[in-house]
Amino acid sequence: MGTTTQQSKKRMTRQAFTLAATALAALLAFAPAAHAAGKAVTWEDVANDDKSTTDVLTYGLGMKAQRHSKLAKINAKNVANLVPAWSFSFGGEKQRGQEGQVLVQDGVIYATGSYSRFYAIDARTGKRLWQYEHRLPDDIRPCCDVVNRGAAIFGNKVFFGTLDAGMVALDKDTGKVLWSKKWGDHKIGYTMTGAPFIVKDQKTGRVLLVHGSSGDEFGVIGWLFARDTETGEEVWARPMVEGHMGRLNGKDSTITGDAKAPSWPRDKDGKLVDAWNHGGGAPWQTASFDVENNMVVIGTGNPAPWNTWKRTKEGDDPRNWDSLFTSGQAYVDASTGELKGFYQHTPNDAWDFSGNNSVVLFEFKDPTTGKLVKASAHADRNGFFFVTDRTKLATGAGYPNKPTSLLAAYPFVDGITWAKGFDLKTGKPNIVEGQHPPQVKPGQEKGDSIFVSPPFLGGTNWMPMSYSPDTGLFYIPANHWAMDYWTENITYKPGAAYLGQGFRIKRLFEDHVGTLRAINPVTGKIAWEHKEKFPLWAGTLTTAGNLVFTGTSDGYVKAFDAKNGKELWKFQTGSGVVSVPVTWEMDGEQYIGIQSGYGGAVPLWGGDMAELTKQVNQGGAMWVFKLPKLVASK
Ligand code: CA
Ligand code: CA
Repeated sequence: MGTTTQQSKKRMTRQAFTLAATALAALLAFAPAAHAAGKAVTWEDVANDDKSTTDVLTYGLGMKAQRHSKLAKINAKNVANLVPAWSFSFGGEKQRGQEGQVLVQDGVIYATGSYSRFYAIDARTGKRLWQYEHRLPDDIRPCCDVVNRGAAIFGNKVFFGTLDAGMVALDKDTGKVLWSKKWGDHKIGYTMTGAPFIVKDQKTGRVLLVHGSSGDEFGVIGWLFARDTETGEEVWARPMVEGHMGRLNGKDSTITGDAKAPSWPRDKDGKLVDAWNHGGGAPWQTASFDVENNMVVIGTGNPAPWNTWKRTKEGDDPRNWDSLFTSGQAYVDASTGELKGFYQHTPNDAWDFSGNNSVVLFEFKDPTTGKLVKASAHADRNGFFFVTDRTKLATGAGYPNKPTSLLAAYPFVDGITWAKGFDLKTGKPNIVEGQHPPQVKPGQEKGDSIFVSPPFLGGTNWMPMSYSPDTGLFYIPANHWAMDYWTENITYKPGAAYLGQGFRIKRLFEDHVGTLRAINPVTGKIAWEHKEKFPLWAGTLTTAGNLVFTGTSDGYVKAFDAKNGKELWKFQTGSGVVSVPVTWEMDGEQYIGIQSGYGGAVPLWGGDMAELTKQVNQGGAMWVFKLPKLVASK
C-alpha cells in the first residue's frame, strides 16, 4: 500500500536535515566587481512593470500578475531559431530545486537559488557580479524542498525570504546586507520560499514590502506582513486564522474575522479545538496588487492539520465547518492590514488543497450585459478555475455573511472526484459523499483508504499561470494524477509534521501526467492542451509574439503557439526545469530567461511520480536565449 505518512515524514525530515547540514557554508560575500552604481528603482517603475519591456521588476511581471509581455520580436514565426546566449551555474554542491523567477533591471539579472542563495549576473555576458549565501541553521523545516521563488526590487535594494524564516535586504549593486529581519521561529516550522512583493499604500503614499510565511505542514499560524523597505520594520501583520489578533504599527490591531471564530469548532469544555492554535492558512506565494482599491490580493494555504476531523465538531458533517481563512483568496487593505474580503476555494479543506498559487487580476466583457467586469482568476489545487468579482471582494462584499463574489468555477483538469462543481449562489462546492477520508475506527491503526483526484499535489500547484490579453486565454501548467488517501491519528508536537493523513500519489492516465492547458475564463472551455510524460512544475509566460513559454521536468524549455498550442521550439537544459520564464529587451534584442535545476515537492512526496522522475539529474543554472542576429533582423 506504499509509504505511510510517518515513514515519508521521517524520510523527508531526515533528507531536509542532511541537506541543511551541507548548507552550512560560511556567509559568502564575493568581492563586488567594478560595477558602477545602477539606476535606483522607483514606485512608478514597479507599478508600470507590465508595460516596460526593458526590465522585469516584479514577480508576476506586473501588479496584476498576468505574466504577459508586450514584446513580439521573438514570435511564432521565428522562435524555432532561438539559441542560448549564455548559461550561468549556481555552483556548489547545493543542487536542489530551482523554482525562481528572476528580475532584470539596468542590465543586471537578480536570481535566487536553492538554500537561500542570491546571485547578481551581468545580463549581457552571464558574468557573476556578486553572490550572497545566507547562513542557514541546521534545523530548518522546509516541507517541500529548499527552494526560493524569487526577489523583489525597490530603490537601491533587492529583497528575498530565507528558509530560516527571515527577510533580507541587499544592496542591489554590491550584495551587501542592508537589513535582515527574523519574523518567525524556524524551529517550529516557519520558513519562507515565496518571492516578496512591492506595493504602495495609496492613502499614505508609503511603499511597502509585502511577504507571507510558510509552514502549514508543521501547524503554525500563517501570517502576511508589510514592512518599511528602508528599515525592514513591520508596518502591519495579518494572521490568516479566524479569531487571531493582527498588528499595526507595533500594536495589536484587529482580530481576523469573527473573534468567536465560529468556523472552528469547540471541544466539550467550550474551548476552541487545539487545531485552531495551529491552524495554518499560510500565504506562502506572492501577492498581486489591486491598485485602484488599495488591496493586497493573496492566496492562503491549507488548514492544519490536514486531518479534517480535527476541525469538525465531534459527530458532525465536515461540510458544516469552514476553517476560515484557509484555502482561499484574501483581500487585505494595504494601509491597515485589515482583511476586507475573502473567497474560500475549499471550505474545511480535507485534502491539502492550499489556495496559494497566483490570483491574477484581469478584466473581461460580460457576454450578457456587455459590461466590463473587474475580476480575479485562480486555478486551484482542487482542480477548479475560479473567476471572482474583485471589486466586491475588495470592498467588503466577501466572506463571511455576505453575498458570494464567485462568478464561475470551471474544472480545468479531468477526473475530479472530490466535488461536482460549485453553487454560484452560495459559492460552496458540491462535495461528493465519501470523499472525506473516513475517521480512524477503534482498533484501526489508520482509516480506510479512498481514491481522490486531484491529489494534494494539485491539479496545479505553486507554479504560476499566465494570461494573454491578446488571446483572452489563461495558460495553466496542470497535472493529471490522483492519490490513495487515508486518515491517521495525530497530536500536535512543536516542529513535527502535523498532517494526520497518509497518501500515495498515483497515475491517472497511462500516456501523460503533465497537461499544459489554455482555458477561456468567460466560457470555461479548454481551447487547447499539450500533454507531457512527466509532471509539469514550471510556470508559464505569454508574449505579444503569440507565444507561451514554459519548462518541463525532463529538462526542456519549450515555446508554444498561444492560439493553438502547437509546439514550436524546445531546448534541453540538462536538468529538470521547475522555474518561471521571463523576457526582456536589451540593446534592441529580445531575451528569454529561465532557471534549470530539478527538485521541489514531486521528488520528495510524489509517490509513483517521484519514482518516475528519479532519472532526472539535479542541477542549478540560469539559461538565457535570443535569436541569432541574422534571424532577428529579418
Ligand atoms: Ca517591465
Ligand atoms: Ca500545504
